[in-house]
Parts: sequence; C-alpha cells; structure tokens
Amino acid sequence: MDVKQKYWNPVLETLPQEKIRQLQLKKFKQIFRWTYDHSKFHRQLYEQAGIKPDDIRSFEDIRQVPKVEKAMMRDIQRKDPFPYGDALCVPLEDVAVFRQTSGTTGQPVYQPDTWQDWEWWAECWSYILWAQGYRPQDRVFIPFGYNIFVAFWAGHYAAEKIGCEVVPGGVLDTKARILKIEELQATAMMATPTYILGMAETAKSKMGIDPSKLTIERITCAGEGGASIPSTKKRMEQAWGAKVYDHAGATEIGAWSFECTEQPGGLHVNEALFLVEVEDVETGEIIEEPARRGKMIITAFDRQAQPCVRFDSKDVIEWANEPCACGRTTRLIEGGVVGRADDITKVKGVLLAPSAIEEVVRSLDGLGDEYEVVVEKIGDTDHIKLRVEVLPESEDQCQLIEAELVDQLRLKTNLRYDIEICGCETLPRYEVKAKRFKDLRKKE
Ligand SMILES: [Zn+2]
Repeated sequence: MDVKQKYWNPVLETLPQEKIRQLQLKKFKQIFRWTYDHSKFHRQLYEQAGIKPDDIRSFEDIRQVPKVEKAMMRDIQRKDPFPYGDALCVPLEDVAVFRQTSGTTGQPVYQPDTWQDWEWWAECWSYILWAQGYRPQDRVFIPFGYNIFVAFWAGHYAAEKIGCEVVPGGVLDTKARILKIEELQATAMMATPTYILGMAETAKSKMGIDPSKLTIERITCAGEGGASIPSTKKRMEQAWGAKVYDHAGATEIGAWSFECTEQPGGLHVNEALFLVEVEDVETGEIIEEPARRGKMIITAFDRQAQPCVRFDSKDVIEWANEPCACGRTTRLIEGGVVGRADDITKVKGVLLAPSAIEEVVRSLDGLGDEYEVVVEKIGDTDHIKLRVEVLPESEDQCQLIEAELVDQLRLKTNLRYDIEICGCETLPRYEVKAKRFKDLRKKE
C-alpha cells in the first residue's frame, strides 16, 4: 500500500452514486440467496413472507424482505448446531471465532465468524483507520480488555494489516496503560469516549501527567456516540491534544461506518460493503431524503457464517445534506448515530434523545465529564433529574452554571430539568460503556 494513497480502496470509495446503487443491488441479491439456501431460520422467515431470491430485482423488492430483530436471534440460539442455532450458514467446524453482544438490553447474542468473515472484519476496519490517517509509521496502543466482546479486536488486526505497529494494552490497569503510552511514544489509540475521558482524568488527577503532552496524535472512538457529539469530541481533543474520530459498528453487523480526517460532523457509510436503509419509526416508510430521522435497517453483503440481512439495528440516524469534502462518494449520516430507538423516549409528550443532554452538559466549561439523567414519574407527571459534577475551580459559580444549564437544555430539548450539582468525582465512573441515562418509568 502506497502511504500517499488517500483512500484504502480508491475504486470503491469514489464510485458514482448510481454505480454504488447497482453494486448494492447485485450484492444484496447474492447475500439473500446465500442466506436463503443455507440458513433454515432465514428460509422459514422468507417463505412465510412469500419471497424467493429471484423475486428481488429492485430496491423496492428489498424493502419487502422481512427484517430480523435481535430478539429473534436470541430465541433461536442455544440450540443445535450448538450454541448458534439454525441461522448458521456454514458447517460448525468452519467457525473460527466466537464473540457475543454485550447484552446491555437482555440476553447476549452469540456471533460465529469463519476465518474469511474475520478477514472481512479486518478489511472493514482498514477503511476506517486509513480514512482517519493511520499509516505504517503509527504506533497504535489499544487499551482494551481483549475478551468475548468484539470491540477493538478487528481494529487491532486492521492496524496490523495496514502495517502499523500494534501494542495490545490488554490486562494493564489505566495507570499502567498511560505509562506504556508515555514510554513507547504511541501515536494513536482506540477506545470508548467514556474511557478516553476517564484515562485523561486519571492521568491528570492521579499521576500528575498532562495527556496533551503525550505523543498521541489520533484517537478512534467506538462503542458510544460521543465522538460525534461536538462538545464531547472537543473535550477529548483538548485533553489529549489529538484528533478524535468516530466509528459506529456492532457485533451482529460489522464495522459499517467511519468519520474521515475532514471531520464532516458525521459518519461515512461504507456503502460498497453495507446497505443502510433508514426507516420512519412511525410509518415504516424508507426515508431517502436528508435531515429526517429514522432507525437503521442494515445488511452486511459479505458476512457468511451468521449473515446480517435487513437487521433492525434500532440505531437512530439521518442522511446528511452535503457530500464530504474528502472526495469519498459514499453517503454520510449527520451527527453519527444520534441514539437508540429504545432510548429516545417521550417525556411529557416531547421526544428526548439522551445525546442532546450530553451535548449541553459537556459544552459548559465549569462542569466535569460525568453526568447522570434519571427520568421518573411522580404522581402523573414525568420528571427529569440531571446530576452534574462541578469542577473545583468553578464551585463558586454553581448558580450561574445551573441557570445556564436550564436555559440551554430548554433550548435544545424543550424540557425542564431538576438540576443537582454535585462535587467532583461523586457520580459513578464507567470503565468501558457508560449507562448515564436511566428511565425508571420503564421498570414500572
Ligand atoms: Zn469524508
């Protein structure tokens, strides 16, 4: 690979849109036929809907293909061929890799991959890292607890594939990881936004190290949407003196999107490898136009062991208005994944996306990185409590901060909050993914 080359795949990343659509239709037909022929679960689903491979001739036909939800995968698993069940499209002995979803919303889903699938994972991640400026001269530190979750595993292999030098930060604790970054003069790293901010806090408050003086130049975030939330991105970039880029992917799907070095305020969908459809949550209509939110239905064209065909991801996204200045012709989603269809709830009849609260909290200088939102019903009325941490140097400005918060939140979310300003480091800390939004009404 020529290091001056701008794109990981110069052909696929610059195809005209109509060519991309032709390719997508062709590849959808292929994966649909593969799934129909090899997965009992899918065959049954499609037979019930009366759809056969030859019926798919247009994007209109694709929309008639039944969606697959996570709950359906849970139901068929833990049966033969054990433990994956009958969505498995290859002989069990061809499975090379086991991973599972993190199960934050119920029983985890197991994900089998063949060696070919695993190479495909690394290839998907290579697009991401190349677009974010990773080159063979980078020394990449991965502060991740290499385990049963897919997380940064494929990022690790992609960095190797590109030719970077990869330092696996496995079982080290946060302090040891920071010292290793310092010692080896690592230039790049990958982690969740929660952990990136947590590491910076540990370095500053517990080790007297200013992370912006370290050698990290670029950071790839995944697992949470924070790197696409401008105020969170800014906090991470300032703390580390580095460029921070977002990426969204999932265990059952693959690494389907990435931010490029232009930082266009959104994510490129890797349209040569994935088909992303945006579905109106109320009407079920597929949204083609920009600036209209819906949930993502996604297909991975080349994943074979347990395919992802019209998977209902519940990620809320919208198409961007403008193409990206980087020259890639693949479409952008504005502001990244803005939430989960499950998390975007109605409070007092108003739609609330938790990411809007994060954007406001992290835009105020006097506040720390952590916050907590609790929605509950008191009598017949919804109440939102927002807890934030004031920084020691701003403790005398609590009233001003509270007034600013109330104002900004009303502006951005049209709702009123009970604010509780807490002392530094009093709210829960999270190691990997955070759970800062608690809707207690759901338990009732
Ligand atoms: Zn771009």
